[in-house]
Amino acid sequence: MMKRASLTDFDRDLIGGVLVQYYATCKREAWLYAHKILANQDDENILMGRVLAEMKDEKELHQFAFSNLKFDKISKQKGHYLVTEYKKSLSNVEGAKMQLLFYIYLLKKNLKLKEVKGKIISGKKVIAVDDTPQNLKDLEKILDEIVELVSTPTPPKAEYKAICNGCAYRDYCF
Ligand code: SF4
Repeated sequence: MMKRASLTDFDRDLIGGVLVQYYATCKREAWLYAHKILANQDDENILMGRVLAEMKDEKELHQFAFSNLKFDKISKQKGHYLVTEYKKSLSNVEGAKMQLLFYIYLLKKNLKLKEVKGKIISGKKVIAVDDTPQNLKDLEKILDEIVELVSTPTPPKAEYKAICNGCAYRDYCF
């Protein structure tokens, strides 16, 4: 039976990068996550994520944490900052891009950094994420939509899509 909850006091400050990524992937997944309905902790993807996180620590990749910001690496380049995220796969490109854009948005907004670029690296593939005015405007809109979604008492209906096969919530949905 699906647990129902109401998060009427949910606001933008409670939004984190994972929630943005889930929203870009599946609105139902975002709702379940925001309402703290735990995904299957034995899921292969979650276990792999934990292993990768431990490997990064051993290699001492820089971890930067500020408020709800958490990404793999930030460096100062000529004229701008560069945020880098490492992914085990690029099966969810849109989600990964929106999550990184969200971190860029917070850096610009909270730390008043002028120009912040992003890079997602998965093996030999590299995807650039730019802080263009249009991208940031789109993100602002998504943040408003997330608040609206999470404030509703029930999740959107499950609709099967290819990404469901790799989703830790599939047992809740199907
Ligand atoms: S299994 Fe599919 S519908 Fe359910 S939360 Fe995951 S991606 Fe969304």
